[in-house]
Amino acid sequence: MSIHQPDSARHPCFNPEAHRAFGRAHLPVAASCNVQCGFCDRRYSCVNESRPGVTARLLTPDEAVDAALRAVARMLHLSVIGIAGPGDPLANAAPTLKTLAELRKALPGILLCLSTNGLALPLHAQTLAGLGVGHVTVTVNAVRPDVGAAIYNWVDDGGKRLSGRQGAALLLERQKIGIRLLKSLGVTVKVNAVVIPGVNDAHMSDIAKAVAAWGADLMNSIPLLPVANTRFALTSSPSAQLMHSIRAEAGEVIPQMRHCTRCRADALGLLGEDGQLDDICGAQPRAQ
Ligand code: SF4
Ligand code: SF4
Repeated sequence: MSIHQPDSARHPCFNPEAHRAFGRAHLPVAASCNVQCGFCDRRYSCVNESRPGVTARLLTPDEAVDAALRAVARMLHLSVIGIAGPGDPLANAAPTLKTLAELRKALPGILLCLSTNGLALPLHAQTLAGLGVGHVTVTVNAVRPDVGAAIYNWVDDGGKRLSGRQGAALLLERQKIGIRLLKSLGVTVKVNAVVIPGVNDAHMSDIAKAVAAWGADLMNSIPLLPVANTRFALTSSPSAQLMHSIRAEAGEVIPQMRHCTRCRADALGLLGEDGQLDDICGAQPRAQ
């Protein structure tokens, strides 16, 4: 199965046939996060490390737009500019929305994309659609609060920090509302789900069924990448065989992305090319 929205033909993540021809740039303008996932650590910014949450530097909106303009001028195959961290773009709404608004003015033909944990999505879905953000990825690692409680250390809702089932239930409710809202606004939605063996691997088909019912277009099951000093540092990545069976079962209810390269928050170029925005960015490093 694949999705058929016309713009998705140019998006390397939403269309497997596009990823060899079209590239993306991630602009790292979102520093902080309103959720703490048990597998995430954004403290390390090694330029040689390639995984979500990692960036060589943070950019201001002006620096990010400047870097995007340089990238598009040099790389004619860039079709998408997205904001994917290093924290959560919508937990940093001011720089994220300013960057997207400036990009929409400067590059009217470019596809705009964003990834989020979904906690603040209901608040910003309308604005994102109004800016022409046509593709949004929401990471949904659980659709039951008891499973979510084993994954999320805490959820911070406007300064009120919730943990356990309470935090997971709030995040789940916001994800459901946010995805439904985006779909009512004509936005193409992908759901990422991190597969954590022994925690949510047996729950993936429930996630697939739930997000398909909410209207999501595509699902990307991502194998856990154990990171030192996190709750799942000693948990093994799921085997290729387990990932295959998870995707096959989930694929019965929602199309599956199978070519994700788990990109950095400052990734640039074709998927898997290991390019970084820093290669063309003139901004000076700033502390995170
Ligand atoms: Fe890290 Fe994203 Fe989870 Fe925030 S939502 S803790 S940035 S993985
Ligand atoms: Fe696409 Fe996966 Fe990279 Fe996100 S992490 S830009 S979905 S390939």
